[in-house]
Amino acid sequence: MRRKLVAGNWKMNGSLAANTLLLTEIKSGLKGNVSSATCDVAVCVPAPYFAQCQGLLNGAAIALGAQDVSSHEAGAYTGEVSTGMLQEFDCRYVIVGHSERRAYFAESNELIAQKTVRALNAGLTPIVCVGETLAQREAGETDSVVAEQLNVVLAAIAVSDLAKIVVAYEPVWAIGTGKTATPAMAQEVHAMLRKQLQVKNAEAAAQVRILYGGSMKPDNAQELLAMSDIDGGLIGGAALKSADFLAIIQAA
Ligand code: PEP
Repeated sequence: MRRKLVAGNWKMNGSLAANTLLLTEIKSGLKGNVSSATCDVAVCVPAPYFAQCQGLLNGAAIALGAQDVSSHEAGAYTGEVSTGMLQEFDCRYVIVGHSERRAYFAESNELIAQKTVRALNAGLTPIVCVGETLAQREAGETDSVVAEQLNVVLAAIAVSDLAKIVVAYEPVWAIGTGKTATPAMAQEVHAMLRKQLQVKNAEAAAQVRILYGGSMKPDNAQELLAMSDIDGGLIGGAALKSADFLAIIQAA
Protein backbone atom coordinates (compact mmCIF):
# COMPACT_ATOMS: atom_id res chain seq x y z
CA MET A 1 0.00 0.00 0.00
CA ARG A 2 1.48 3.33 -1.05
CA ARG A 3 1.19 6.19 1.41
CA LYS A 4 -0.43 9.19 -0.17
CA LEU A 5 1.62 12.35 -0.55
CA VAL A 6 0.14 15.83 -0.72
CA ALA A 7 2.78 18.37 -1.76
CA GLY A 8 2.16 22.08 -2.08
CA ASN A 9 4.00 24.01 -4.76
CA TRP A 10 4.01 27.63 -3.66
CA LYS A 11 5.69 28.75 -6.91
CA MET A 12 6.92 32.39 -6.71
CA ASN A 13 4.50 33.34 -3.95
CA GLY A 14 4.89 34.14 -0.29
CA SER A 15 6.45 36.63 2.09
CA LEU A 16 7.86 36.30 5.58
CA ALA A 17 4.52 37.34 7.06
CA ALA A 18 2.33 35.28 4.71
CA ASN A 19 4.47 32.14 5.19
CA THR A 20 4.22 32.38 8.97
CA LEU A 21 0.46 32.72 8.81
CA LEU A 22 -0.02 29.93 6.25
CA LEU A 23 2.22 27.37 7.96
CA THR A 24 0.89 28.20 11.41
CA GLU A 25 -2.66 27.60 10.19
CA ILE A 26 -1.73 24.37 8.39
CA LYS A 27 0.14 23.05 11.43
CA SER A 28 -2.74 23.70 13.77
CA GLY A 29 -5.23 22.25 11.28
CA LEU A 30 -3.18 19.08 10.95
CA LYS A 31 -2.93 18.63 14.68
CA GLY A 32 -6.66 18.73 15.11
CA ASN A 33 -7.97 16.76 12.17
CA VAL A 34 -5.60 14.68 10.17
CA SER A 35 -3.63 11.61 11.02
CA SER A 36 -0.10 12.06 9.76
CA ALA A 37 0.17 8.26 9.86
CA THR A 38 -1.79 7.85 6.65
CA CYS A 39 -0.56 10.68 4.48
CA ASP A 40 2.72 12.48 3.88
CA VAL A 41 2.58 16.25 3.54
CA ALA A 42 5.18 18.59 2.06
CA VAL A 43 5.49 22.23 1.07
CA CYS A 44 7.83 23.23 -1.75
CA VAL A 45 8.73 26.82 -1.01
CA PRO A 46 10.85 29.50 -2.72
CA ALA A 47 14.55 29.07 -1.85
CA PRO A 48 14.93 32.36 0.08
CA TYR A 49 12.41 31.06 2.59
CA PHE A 50 14.07 27.70 3.33
CA ALA A 51 15.49 28.88 6.66
CA GLN A 52 12.26 30.49 7.77
CA CYS A 53 10.12 27.51 6.78
CA GLN A 54 12.58 25.01 8.27
CA GLY A 55 12.12 26.82 11.57
CA LEU A 56 8.34 26.99 11.26
CA LEU A 57 8.12 23.29 10.40
CA ASN A 58 10.34 22.16 13.26
CA GLY A 59 8.54 19.29 14.96
CA ALA A 60 5.63 19.30 12.51
CA ALA A 61 4.66 16.35 10.30
CA ILE A 62 5.23 18.45 7.21
CA ALA A 63 8.34 18.06 5.10
CA LEU A 64 10.16 20.89 3.41
CA GLY A 65 10.72 20.79 -0.34
CA ALA A 66 12.26 22.89 -3.09
CA GLN A 67 10.80 23.78 -6.48
CA ASP A 68 13.94 23.20 -8.52
CA VAL A 69 17.62 22.37 -8.13
CA SER A 70 20.77 22.73 -10.19
CA SER A 71 22.10 19.80 -12.18
CA HIS A 72 25.59 20.93 -11.10
CA GLU A 73 27.20 20.17 -7.79
CA ALA A 74 28.69 23.64 -7.10
CA GLY A 75 30.62 26.41 -8.78
CA ALA A 76 30.18 29.26 -11.25
CA TYR A 77 26.46 28.86 -12.01
CA THR A 78 24.97 32.24 -11.14
CA GLY A 79 21.48 32.05 -9.73
CA GLU A 80 21.48 28.29 -9.24
CA VAL A 81 20.77 26.43 -5.98
CA SER A 82 22.59 23.17 -5.26
CA THR A 83 21.45 19.93 -3.67
CA GLY A 84 23.96 20.57 -0.87
CA MET A 85 22.20 23.85 -0.07
CA LEU A 86 18.83 22.07 0.02
CA GLN A 87 20.24 19.47 2.39
CA GLU A 88 21.47 22.14 4.78
CA PHE A 89 17.86 23.21 5.32
CA ASP A 90 16.53 19.65 5.68
CA CYS A 91 14.68 19.71 2.38
CA ARG A 92 13.38 16.23 1.69
CA TYR A 93 11.71 16.76 -1.68
CA VAL A 94 12.57 18.70 -4.80
CA ILE A 95 10.30 19.26 -7.79
CA VAL A 96 12.10 18.71 -11.10
CA GLY A 97 10.76 19.35 -14.58
CA HIS A 98 7.70 21.36 -13.63
CA SER A 99 5.94 22.44 -16.81
CA GLU A 100 6.66 26.08 -15.99
CA ARG A 101 10.39 25.27 -15.92
CA ARG A 102 10.03 23.39 -19.20
CA ALA A 103 8.04 26.18 -20.88
CA TYR A 104 9.61 29.39 -19.52
CA PHE A 105 13.17 28.22 -18.89
CA ALA A 106 13.51 25.80 -21.82
CA GLU A 107 14.35 22.84 -19.59
CA SER A 108 14.85 19.71 -21.67
CA ASN A 109 14.07 16.12 -20.73
CA GLU A 110 17.83 15.54 -20.56
CA LEU A 111 18.43 18.40 -18.12
CA ILE A 112 15.52 17.19 -15.99
CA ALA A 113 17.03 13.69 -15.96
CA GLN A 114 20.36 15.15 -14.79
CA LYS A 115 18.62 17.07 -12.00
CA THR A 116 16.81 13.90 -10.96
CA VAL A 117 20.08 11.98 -10.71
CA ARG A 118 21.69 14.86 -8.80
CA ALA A 119 18.78 14.90 -6.32
CA LEU A 120 18.87 11.13 -5.84
CA ASN A 121 22.62 11.15 -5.26
CA ALA A 122 22.09 13.73 -2.52
CA GLY A 123 19.42 11.61 -0.83
CA LEU A 124 16.60 13.96 -1.82
CA THR A 125 13.30 12.72 -3.22
CA PRO A 126 12.75 14.14 -6.69
CA ILE A 127 9.16 14.85 -7.72
CA VAL A 128 9.50 14.38 -11.47
CA CYS A 129 6.79 16.25 -13.38
CA VAL A 130 5.44 15.13 -16.73
CA GLY A 131 2.45 16.35 -18.71
CA GLU A 132 1.10 17.25 -22.10
CA THR A 133 -0.10 20.59 -23.47
CA LEU A 134 -3.63 21.07 -24.72
CA ALA A 135 -2.43 20.97 -28.34
CA GLN A 136 -0.65 17.68 -27.68
CA ARG A 137 -3.74 16.18 -26.03
CA GLU A 138 -5.95 17.28 -28.89
CA ALA A 139 -3.49 15.78 -31.37
CA GLY A 140 -3.72 12.44 -29.54
CA GLU A 141 -0.11 12.70 -28.39
CA THR A 142 -0.62 12.53 -24.61
CA ASP A 143 0.78 9.03 -24.13
CA SER A 144 3.80 9.51 -26.38
CA VAL A 145 4.74 12.91 -24.91
CA VAL A 146 4.40 11.82 -21.31
CA ALA A 147 6.10 8.47 -21.95
CA GLU A 148 9.08 10.19 -23.57
CA GLN A 149 9.40 12.66 -20.67
CA LEU A 150 9.47 9.80 -18.18
CA ASN A 151 11.64 7.53 -20.33
CA VAL A 152 14.55 9.95 -20.43
CA VAL A 153 14.53 10.11 -16.64
CA LEU A 154 14.19 6.33 -16.27
CA ALA A 155 17.12 5.77 -18.60
CA ALA A 156 19.31 8.00 -16.43
CA ILE A 157 18.59 6.51 -13.00
CA ALA A 158 19.74 3.26 -11.44
CA VAL A 159 17.18 0.49 -10.91
CA SER A 160 18.02 0.68 -7.21
CA ASP A 161 16.83 4.31 -7.19
CA LEU A 162 13.51 3.72 -8.93
CA ALA A 163 11.45 3.33 -5.77
CA LYS A 164 12.94 6.60 -4.46
CA ILE A 165 11.37 8.86 -7.04
CA VAL A 166 7.92 10.42 -7.04
CA VAL A 167 6.25 11.10 -10.39
CA ALA A 168 3.71 13.89 -10.87
CA TYR A 169 1.35 13.79 -13.84
CA GLU A 170 0.38 17.39 -14.49
CA PRO A 171 -1.50 18.07 -17.70
CA VAL A 172 -0.30 21.54 -18.66
CA TRP A 173 -3.79 22.61 -19.70
CA ALA A 174 -5.05 21.93 -16.17
CA ILE A 175 -2.40 23.90 -14.27
CA GLY A 176 -3.74 27.10 -12.76
CA THR A 177 -6.66 27.09 -15.20
CA GLY A 178 -9.44 25.68 -13.04
CA LYS A 179 -9.80 22.85 -15.60
CA THR A 180 -9.11 19.44 -14.12
CA ALA A 181 -8.59 16.11 -15.79
CA THR A 182 -11.49 13.84 -14.93
CA PRO A 183 -10.55 11.04 -12.55
CA ALA A 184 -10.84 8.57 -15.43
CA MET A 185 -8.60 10.65 -17.70
CA ALA A 186 -5.98 11.03 -15.00
CA GLN A 187 -6.15 7.36 -14.00
CA GLU A 188 -5.60 6.30 -17.61
CA VAL A 189 -2.34 8.26 -17.81
CA HIS A 190 -1.25 7.19 -14.32
CA ALA A 191 -1.79 3.53 -15.21
CA MET A 192 0.24 4.02 -18.38
CA LEU A 193 3.05 5.61 -16.36
CA ARG A 194 2.94 2.75 -13.84
CA LYS A 195 3.32 0.23 -16.69
CA GLN A 196 6.32 2.16 -17.94
CA LEU A 197 7.87 2.04 -14.47
CA GLN A 198 7.19 -1.71 -14.35
CA VAL A 199 9.34 -2.26 -17.42
CA LYS A 200 12.31 -0.96 -15.43
CA ASN A 201 11.43 -2.90 -12.28
CA ALA A 202 8.04 -4.32 -11.34
CA GLU A 203 8.63 -4.44 -7.60
CA ALA A 204 9.87 -0.86 -7.40
CA ALA A 205 7.12 0.37 -9.73
CA ALA A 206 4.52 -0.76 -7.23
CA GLN A 207 6.10 1.53 -4.64
CA VAL A 208 6.46 4.67 -6.74
CA ARG A 209 3.95 7.35 -5.87
CA ILE A 210 2.34 8.99 -8.88
CA LEU A 211 0.75 12.31 -7.95
CA TYR A 212 -1.86 14.17 -9.95
CA GLY A 213 -1.47 17.93 -10.36
CA GLY A 214 -3.62 20.45 -12.16
CA SER A 215 -6.28 22.48 -10.38
CA MET A 216 -6.76 19.90 -7.63
CA LYS A 217 -9.14 21.54 -5.15
CA PRO A 218 -11.17 20.47 -2.12
CA ASP A 219 -14.20 19.78 -4.33
CA ASN A 220 -12.46 17.41 -6.75
CA ALA A 221 -9.66 15.94 -4.61
CA GLN A 222 -11.60 13.04 -3.18
CA GLU A 223 -12.68 11.52 -6.48
CA LEU A 224 -9.23 11.97 -8.02
CA LEU A 225 -7.51 10.49 -4.99
CA ALA A 226 -9.88 7.51 -5.02
CA MET A 227 -8.37 6.25 -8.30
CA SER A 228 -6.11 3.23 -7.90
CA ASP A 229 -2.97 4.78 -9.40
CA ILE A 230 -3.37 8.31 -8.03
CA ASP A 231 -1.20 8.40 -4.95
CA GLY A 232 -1.55 12.02 -3.96
CA GLY A 233 -1.49 15.51 -5.33
CA LEU A 234 0.90 18.25 -6.35
CA ILE A 235 -1.04 21.34 -5.43
CA GLY A 236 -0.45 24.86 -6.73
CA GLY A 237 -3.10 27.51 -6.06
CA ALA A 238 -4.93 25.58 -3.36
CA ALA A 239 -1.69 25.14 -1.40
CA LEU A 240 -1.68 28.87 -0.66
CA LYS A 241 -4.97 28.71 1.25
CA SER A 242 -4.73 26.80 4.49
CA ALA A 243 -8.37 25.67 4.48
CA ASP A 244 -8.10 24.33 0.92
CA PHE A 245 -4.76 22.62 1.49
CA LEU A 246 -6.05 21.03 4.71
CA ALA A 247 -9.21 19.83 2.95
CA ILE A 248 -7.12 18.13 0.26
CA ILE A 249 -4.93 16.49 2.91
CA GLN A 250 -8.10 15.34 4.63
CA ALA A 251 -9.36 13.84 1.36
CA ALA A 252 -6.07 11.96 0.99
C1 PEP B 1 1.22 23.05 -10.23
O1 PEP B 1 1.65 24.04 -10.78
O2 PEP B 1 2.00 22.16 -9.88
C2 PEP B 1 -0.22 22.96 -10.02
C3 PEP B 1 -0.75 21.78 -9.89
O3 PEP B 1 -0.92 24.14 -9.98
P1 PEP B 1 -2.51 24.32 -9.72
O4 PEP B 1 -2.89 23.40 -8.62
O5 PEP B 1 -2.66 25.76 -9.38
O6 PEP B 1 -3.17 23.96 -11.02
